[in-house]
This record gives sequence, C-alpha cells and structure tokens, in this order.
Amino acid sequence: MADNDVAAYDPQNIFAKMLKGEIPCHKIYEDGDTMAFLDIMPRTEGHTLVITKEPAVDLFAISAQGLDKLMAVVQKLAPQIKAAVGADGVMIQQFNGEAAGQTVLHLHVHIVPIKEGVPVKPHAGDMANADELAATAEKIKAVLKG
Ligand code: 5GP
Repeated sequence: MADNDVAAYDPQNIFAKMLKGEIPCHKIYEDGDTMAFLDIMPRTEGHTLVITKEPAVDLFAISAQGLDKLMAVVQKLAPQIKAAVGADGVMIQQFNGEAAGQTVLHLHVHIVPIKEGVPVKPHAGDMANADELAATAEKIKAVLKG
C-alpha cells in the first residue's frame, strides 16, 4: 500500500465498539470528540489510549479539526496521567498502517508514562490484570477531577 493510501474504515473495529458501549473498557475521560481509556496490554502503569470519535483509520484520514481536538486532549491528559502514576516522563506514540505496527485500525494516540529505571514492556504484549487496571483508572480519574 502506498503512503497516501488509507485502509477502509471498519465500523465494527474494537475501538468503534467501545465508543458505542458494546465492549467494556477502563474509561478515564470522554468529551464530544474523544475518549480515553487504559490499554489492555499496558507497556507501563497508566498506559492510556486517546481515540477520536470521528471514524478515521489513521492520522491521514482524520480532518484537521478532528486532529486538533485529539491532540489537545493528549496534551491535557498526559501530564495528569504522569502525575497520577508518579512517572518521570511520558512517551507519546502513534502508529499508521499495519507495517508500522498499528494493530487497531481506528486512529489513536498512546500515552505511556515512563518511570526512570522501570523497563517499558513490549508493544501489545501481555494482558493486564483487570483489577490492577481498574485501580489505575481510579487513581488517574481522581487526579483528573482535581
Ligand atoms: P496499535 O498497535 O494499533 O497502535 O495499538 C492498539 C493498542 O490497543 C495496543 O496497545 C493494544 O494493547 C490495545 N488493545 C487491543 N485490544 C484492546 C482492547 O480490547 N481493549 C483495550 N483497552 N485495549 C486494546
């Protein structure tokens, strides 16, 4: 596939189902344009995905306005997630196309808090324990409310 070709958007993809409430997730934030929830295979504690409500496969399929809204939420949430889990830095990642490592074809941005000296697990590795994810989500939501 050429760089400027974008796969067709599948309205039944897993993130679209989360937006419709058909699949549960540990949601930490939602507004009219975006939703953020914990990654089920977290690379670190607090690994969060921010997704757009606009049906876009990747960065090249979304409107400029939709992208602005998505990135504004990433900018707002990342420092608060970092504080909630006591991290030292934040890695922001975003993959476009299966060849680049994208596994869910609905535009999303990874917020990965980094603690000095704590290894970052592989991308899409082991599933997290549901209770641990729930506890992390509560920790983050407490900071977001403040
Ligand atoms: P990508 O590789 O497309 O950038 O990232 C997709 C991310 O979605 C991966 O990090 C993966 O762990 C996460 N993921 C896949 N399926 C689910 C799911 O059912 N629930 C949640 N919360 N995350 C998922």
